[in-house]
Amino acid sequence: MKIAIAGFGALGARVGVMLQRAGHDVIGIDGWAAHIAAINTKGLTVTEDDGSSKKYFIPVMTPKEVTGEFDLVILLTKTPQLDRMLTDIQPLITKQTQLLVLSNGLGNVEVMAKHVSSQQIIAGVTLWTSDLVQPGEIHVTGTGSIKLQAIDHADITAVVTALNEAGLNAEVSDNVVEAIWHKAGINSVLNPLTVLLDANIAEFGTAGNGMDLALNILDEIKQVGDAAGVNVDVNSILSDLSNLLKPENAGNHYPSMYQDIQAGKRTEIDFLNGYFAKLGRENHIATPFNALVTRLIHAKEDIERVK
Ligand code: NAD
Repeated sequence: MKIAIAGFGALGARVGVMLQRAGHDVIGIDGWAAHIAAINTKGLTVTEDDGSSKKYFIPVMTPKEVTGEFDLVILLTKTPQLDRMLTDIQPLITKQTQLLVLSNGLGNVEVMAKHVSSQQIIAGVTLWTSDLVQPGEIHVTGTGSIKLQAIDHADITAVVTALNEAGLNAEVSDNVVEAIWHKAGINSVLNPLTVLLDANIAEFGTAGNGMDLALNILDEIKQVGDAAGVNVDVNSILSDLSNLLKPENAGNHYPSMYQDIQAGKRTEIDFLNGYFAKLGRENHIATPFNALVTRLIHAKEDIERVK
């Protein structure tokens, strides 16, 4: 299958390597010049927990440099970059191209619907992880899975087969929206609160009122979900959070929003707490915790950018 990974950062590169190893024709599309140059000259270095590393040669280009047509485009930009990426890769998309989005957060499908027909859109959520160490190098750990669903009944058998040939543990879901909201619920707690409290996940787990704060955020998400027709299982999210907070599971991990703030980058807050606060406003549901967290993260983005 001819596959483009649009957004060849930490996770896009990991997924790209796995698909290439399974024999697919993979290219990366990205906009970070130093990362592109490093991969195209020295290969992509993938390091594992035991310190071993391997190099992979996957062509990576800017959208303007890519030619040809693709059977599948996997979207793995940060959520704020998705709209721009879809505009830039428009010439590469035919009516037959299927587009799978695995970026976190909510609203991705609405953004995609501005660019392609609903028949082409596959919504997904993934538990695979990866860290970008430096341009041209990622660090991978553990395994993961993908849940996906065509949003308009398209046949996605070939896509699921390709992902599973690569060992990506893909499973078709009959309610991927619920799975996306579940993960967004977890991220809407851990991402902003670790930034605002300047803590890694394990440290956040030691906060006496950490779970109360989580519940404040999640109760609002549940009410917004009810209005949007999405079932939000708060107890199940809290249970996943409790597991993640255990030092043996979370270790010294800092969520991606923490890393984005440190790097002076724009975060995905508008597609997490900010999205829930917006839905709350539209449905006359008070979401003071999500609204405040969103504003504080935007303030933090500004402060770090100026530093
Ligand atoms: P990433 O930040 O590694 O890469 C995203 C984009 O930002 C890429 O185009 C990358 O080239 C660019 N970029 C990264 N660092 C840059 C820098 N210093 N300067 C300029 N450009 C830079 O993002 P990611 O971790 O691959 O995440 C992609 C999506 O997948 C996000 O929505 C994320 O929430 C989601 N996700 C990530 C993981 C993970 O473990 N990485 C897990 C699940 C979901």
